[in-house]
Amino acid sequence: MNSSITIKQDSAQQFSQQVVNWYHKQGRKHLPWQQNKTPYRVWISEIMLQQTQVATVIPYYQRFMESFPTITDLANAAEDNVLHHWTGLGYYARARNLHKAAKIIRDNFNGEFPQNITDVIALSGIGRSTAGAILSLALNQPQPILDGNVKRVLARCYLVDGYNGLSKFDKTLWQLSEQLTPTQDTSYYNQAMMDLGATVCTRTKPNCEQCPLQYSCLAKAADLQSEYPQKKPKKKIPEKNTIMVIPRIQNNNNELVLMEKRPPSGIWGGLWCFYEIAELEQLTTLLTKVNLKPIAQQQLTEFRHTFSHFHLDITPLVVDCELISNQEVNENNQQQWYNLQQENNVGLAASTKKLLTLLTTTI
Ligand code: SF4
Repeated sequence: MNSSITIKQDSAQQFSQQVVNWYHKQGRKHLPWQQNKTPYRVWISEIMLQQTQVATVIPYYQRFMESFPTITDLANAAEDNVLHHWTGLGYYARARNLHKAAKIIRDNFNGEFPQNITDVIALSGIGRSTAGAILSLALNQPQPILDGNVKRVLARCYLVDGYNGLSKFDKTLWQLSEQLTPTQDTSYYNQAMMDLGATVCTRTKPNCEQCPLQYSCLAKAADLQSEYPQKKPKKKIPEKNTIMVIPRIQNNNNELVLMEKRPPSGIWGGLWCFYEIAELEQLTTLLTKVNLKPIAQQQLTEFRHTFSHFHLDITPLVVDCELISNQEVNENNQQQWYNLQQENNVGLAASTKKLLTLLTTTI
């Protein structure tokens, strides 16, 4: 395995110049976060783009920026409202971290995004590459970056052995990125490197004929593009089962379903979900606890939700209920009756959203 690679200064300059020239001809320049660039606007886009495709991100980004046009607006918003804007994007820790970091910026930096890389990396949810991307793209600071797309381009150009997450691999690539990142035009260079990885040097079918690096790329010369970066050895993901109980009542011509709010950490942290039980025998105890009497129940088709570290097989169970006599329709911070006839501004887990769609369209 290559531990470090030293690049001659003129080769590094040639590399970055080719990349910058390509940016001027082919790079993406019309994405919403590339207009009126500020560190805040770039920050939100960088976080949304982690694990998510550009086309999916655009409408979420536009809604988010309309609702929270400044860092202070975001910091002052209720967490439920922030999570609501994230519903469907997944990886909700990203939204919670954004909210937490916005409060720190409001309180410690007067609501202005910090411009020192150490301060930026100290904010929740911002690693070295994201910090570098924000400061270089928005302010043209000469900061190197190393997201998944850049890693793929560099690993191929210099035949760097290893896979994402392997510390030696990441270390070698950071050294390469530091040597190759120019001190001028860093904003163009970094944007181009990300675009190259996303649109030309793609995972399965790199389009080398369109690549500005084709004459120096070692993987292309040796026809080894598909071997780099190497694949992470696979671990089998465990499977778990759960029954999701959807208590439903009729109330003044409205259909209401009962949800609970998850604790702030753990899966779907802080989001609204249906109640879970491990076995059907626990249903009566659950319903009694929330003052409900079952009238009829219907099991829906099981579906699977996959997290990064396990599969969750979900059996949905709709239970039509009545309130136990003399009880009111109670709600509190941790429990709400969701009206199926109205859209509510609360953060919903992906499974909850899917079940609500099923409930409003089929049964
Ligand atoms: S020449 Fe091909 S493999 Fe090399 S960086 Fe360009 S697209 Fe990727």
